[in-house]
Amino acid sequence: MSHSILRGGLREWESPLYQEAVGQFDRVADLIGLDENVAERLRVPQRSIMVTFPYRHDDYDEVGSLFGYRVQHLLSMGPTKGGIRYAPDVNLGEVAALAMLMTWKCAIVGLPFGGAKGGVRVDPTALSRSELQRVTRRYTTEIINFIGPNKDIPAPDMGTDEQVMGWIMDTYSQQVGYSVPAVVTGKPPALGGSVARREATGRGLVSLLPVAALQAGLATDGITVAIHGFGNVGRYAALAAQQGGAKVVAISDVSGGVFNGKGIDVADAMAWVDRNRSLEGYTGGGDRISNEEVFLTDAEVLMPCAIGGVITDANAGDINARLIMEGANGPTTLAADRILNDRGVVVVPDVLGNAGGVTVSYFEWVQDLQNYFWSETEIVGRLREIMSRAFDEVMSIAVVHKTDLRTAALIKGIRRVADAKLARGIFP
Ligand code: GLU
Repeated sequence: MSHSILRGGLREWESPLYQEAVGQFDRVADLIGLDENVAERLRVPQRSIMVTFPYRHDDYDEVGSLFGYRVQHLLSMGPTKGGIRYAPDVNLGEVAALAMLMTWKCAIVGLPFGGAKGGVRVDPTALSRSELQRVTRRYTTEIINFIGPNKDIPAPDMGTDEQVMGWIMDTYSQQVGYSVPAVVTGKPPALGGSVARREATGRGLVSLLPVAALQAGLATDGITVAIHGFGNVGRYAALAAQQGGAKVVAISDVSGGVFNGKGIDVADAMAWVDRNRSLEGYTGGGDRISNEEVFLTDAEVLMPCAIGGVITDANAGDINARLIMEGANGPTTLAADRILNDRGVVVVPDVLGNAGGVTVSYFEWVQDLQNYFWSETEIVGRLREIMSRAFDEVMSIAVVHKTDLRTAALIKGIRRVADAKLARGIFP
């Protein structure tokens, strides 16, 4: 890396998560002997847009000022694709790291996109609905020249939802003068959103449970699952796991969680959260546990489905699960990953495990471009097919290279991207 663009530090993108993402990339690039000219281009995002903008509080005279980001990691594969997160600590480095992960994710499941990610540094729970709408519309306006159905297609991520995507679609459409559903995915179905998009990440993850359990030497019948995070990913992963015959013994969110060895009624827990906003106070016939204890239960499978950096060298040695399936982005640090590998724990990495979300986003985009909508059966069937094919391909790379699944998945993703970049050549 001595001649690297990153010599002297990561500079603008400096953040622990970005360091991890580059570290992970470098390890795999070395392993496959990646052309250094290509590697150099992939270490840094192609476009990083950082904006500041004002928004009026509900009290008309009060004006807030916010940071917004949109990072497009790679423009060689087609339009860029990735979510927008609203969180109080979002920064350029985090968004850049997540954009890089999106590149690998799309390449691993074979979607015609490069990776992107966006964010606004704001706590969405502290905003009223109308403030959230104004923030969203102004942020969209600030980045409007960089998004579009053929340029960059945002989607939900932490702290954003279907309604936020609806406002983005409307703001963009107002500016160009006609409706452009394909500018974002994860929209309400009434605006051209896809059925089954909301459940897609959780369902996609759980569709890999039988094959992943086999790898971990676990019997699938009545397999026990603990889930960290009960938002859009965790709750639908829990539901799908239960519907598939697994026993969901632990769930949690920021307010804490619950353990019930007999199995939690997931629909009941979802109804509680819909009424009370969080799992706070929920027992579901079991015992209250902390949000951290969910990692340490005796469940056979652990699904981290909330935020990044939660499985670290501090708790990786104490995890009892034999199989970890990552629904969140970047939940496991590099150091924790090494510990888990040494302990023989099978890890289905985020870039494979949670790719169901962007896969159904891809279906949504295709449906919007064609103005022709598919049935839920078609969508779920195609999702399963793409997920299981990607898993099989990653497995065979893992066997050939004698590596863990994360390394194998990254080998697959990075190779595909490198092939495309070499085939395109350099302009001028
Ligand atoms: N934010 C999700 C992810 O990290 C979905 C992105 C998309 O649908 O474009 O994969």
